[in-house]
Amino acid sequence: MNIKPTLTIALAQLLFASASQAQEQQTLPNVIVILADDLGYADVGFNGCKDIPTPNIDRIAQNGIRFTNGYVSYSVCGPSRAGLITGRYQDRFGFGRNPLFAPNDPEMGLPLSEQTLADALNQANYKSLAIGKWHLGAHESLHPLKRGFDDFYGFLSGGHQYFPEDLTLEDEFEVKAQYDAYKTKLLQNHKRVEESEYLTDAFSREAVSYIESNQDNPFFIYLAYNAPHAPLQATEKYLDRFKQIDNRKRRIYAAMVSAVDDGVGQVLDKLEELGISDNTMVFFLSDNGGPEEHNGSDNGILREGKSSLYEGGIRVPFAMQWPAQIPAGKVYDQPVITFDIFATAVENAKVSPKNQLDGVNLIPYLKGEKQGTPHETLYWRKFDQNAYAVRSGDYKVVRYKSDVDEMFDVEKDISETRPLSIADQANYAEIKQAYTKWSGEMKDPVFLGLMQDEEYSQQNPNRFRRLNPYEPDTMKPAVPSGYSLLWADEFDKPGKPDSLYWTYEEGFVRNEELQWYQPDNAKVRNGVLEIEGRRERVKNPHYEKDNRSWKKNRREAEYTSACVKTTDKFSFQYGIMEVRAKIDTSMGMWPAIWSLGVTRRWPANGEVDQLEFYRHQGKAKLLANAAWAGSDGKIVWDSARIPIDDFLEAQPDWPERFHVWKMDWTESYIRLYLDGQLLNEIDIKNAEYLDGFNPFHQPQYILLNLAIGSNGGDPSGTSFPRKYLVDYVRVYQKE
Ligand code: CA
Repeated sequence: MNIKPTLTIALAQLLFASASQAQEQQTLPNVIVILADDLGYADVGFNGCKDIPTPNIDRIAQNGIRFTNGYVSYSVCGPSRAGLITGRYQDRFGFGRNPLFAPNDPEMGLPLSEQTLADALNQANYKSLAIGKWHLGAHESLHPLKRGFDDFYGFLSGGHQYFPEDLTLEDEFEVKAQYDAYKTKLLQNHKRVEESEYLTDAFSREAVSYIESNQDNPFFIYLAYNAPHAPLQATEKYLDRFKQIDNRKRRIYAAMVSAVDDGVGQVLDKLEELGISDNTMVFFLSDNGGPEEHNGSDNGILREGKSSLYEGGIRVPFAMQWPAQIPAGKVYDQPVITFDIFATAVENAKVSPKNQLDGVNLIPYLKGEKQGTPHETLYWRKFDQNAYAVRSGDYKVVRYKSDVDEMFDVEKDISETRPLSIADQANYAEIKQAYTKWSGEMKDPVFLGLMQDEEYSQQNPNRFRRLNPYEPDTMKPAVPSGYSLLWADEFDKPGKPDSLYWTYEEGFVRNEELQWYQPDNAKVRNGVLEIEGRRERVKNPHYEKDNRSWKKNRREAEYTSACVKTTDKFSFQYGIMEVRAKIDTSMGMWPAIWSLGVTRRWPANGEVDQLEFYRHQGKAKLLANAAWAGSDGKIVWDSARIPIDDFLEAQPDWPERFHVWKMDWTESYIRLYLDGQLLNEIDIKNAEYLDGFNPFHQPQYILLNLAIGSNGGDPSGTSFPRKYLVDYVRVYQKE
């Protein structure tokens, strides 16, 4: 009876809700981060540069704020970018080195545990574009499109050639040495393109065009110019502006900076032309100080430059504008750091980041609503050099290329030329203690870096070889750094699986599955272990018509398959286990890669399933689980179940490809990965039994099998035989 009025109210509420949502959406600020590369502190007009006019970069400072104490979190490219894009000290996640170009290595770059600013802004439906230099990993799992960006235009390496005619390599697997990567053709998302413009101009063009096509929704542009990083290359158009500079290096450098400045101008002009400048935050900064000798840059009164922990390495030209919110033409003198970009952006986009941030929303400080300093203390660490720096108020403690600490008052002595007598400084001990505490929270580097190029290449002889996703891998195992290979079967000797390693399950075993397990269905050929599922009748020798057990009351099996296992042959406790396999996803199939504890009965022995593929609530899913006995003796599951459709969407031929399943098992956790993507993390302490026994603190043995039926679904409409292929099983342990 009263249906009508209710409907009307509901409709009105709905309309109101969507209208205010739309308004909300509109008011979210756009975010543009313009990052220059190796630009000197004194090489922009707003920091007093005389010989290189930067009227457009200076516009940002005039429209907003110039930071005199703007810092990056590291003094070279890669780690500095990792800090910027995550809003966190990069040492929190082991990014303490400058990554090498290693397209086969999923560990070489920004760990997948980390959320990028693009990931975070996605929660508020931002569109995001990364342009230019990535340098956060060249493996496909670390590509910008896998790290939250909707679009990418640029290159994956740490630097690049600027003239399009020098971009001759079709892809990353034509790279044969670290600096060859500078010659790869640019990527538009995953596709190689023929660029025709000078690189800096091309990147500006892409930024402008993205602004144009996304003006109606909030967007984030990470415009990471590689200029003015070496090689020193500029076009006549820009060189002609600096005829008065005699020094050749400085002249080319100036031309490169001038090209960036033009690009910044085009971006700002486009924002103004579209009327969206007011509500767009634009940040401008350099990723580290200028390497003066190398590229002709100038850090002015700051001591040293790129790679140093004196101010010249870490204090950079830094400005921002957001006309709708912050005043114009102001100077802000308190220390700020790149992490603040992330914190400011997410707080104003009203999203909550996944990880703990080290940055601060600067807006209340810049509007004068908050007094004091955004950061009491800032830290820097160069792991391999055993070097560090701490800025606390006006003071800085630094140990760089030395065994002793120095202390400066960087407000009074910005050039760090007058070390204070540490003995007279009451706050020295406090600062030192704060550093020790902070450093204790940080992680050692998780990959080798640019300084270990040779060592890395020796360890990874197939560093630049392309792995064919449809074929077995014949490369040498890429042993993770800090680990050694404990045990492996590469399945490269044709015949039966090696009897020193493998034994078999036989007959009916578990879950009322339909197959009869027999050794005959497992064989090694063409570099893989083939487990074959067949439609084949086998008489059950244990048959008893009225027996209550399904293992006995079935007269015969309609299917056969194999389960190989390392029981009594091999087991291991902690380490990394990696299996590359191609699974069969047909109806009825239930392939698995798993392991079981060596003592106690199931489930008290502890089970880890790196892979199970079966039907769960009618949907085909990939599972990553652990199971153990709860306090009542019943099974407890910690499961991740991901619909296979998610993978098919990204890779329609997913089932035709080999994939890598990985278990990373330590004393505290078990992490299960598929192709470098973390699917599940199991906290081991949850598995402790009443008597204090923890099944994940005992060795486990390995099982590989193809079950048929049961959770796998009804195989009766499926054609046979089916094949489950295992390319290798490798187990690594910490050295
Ligand atoms: Ca740099």
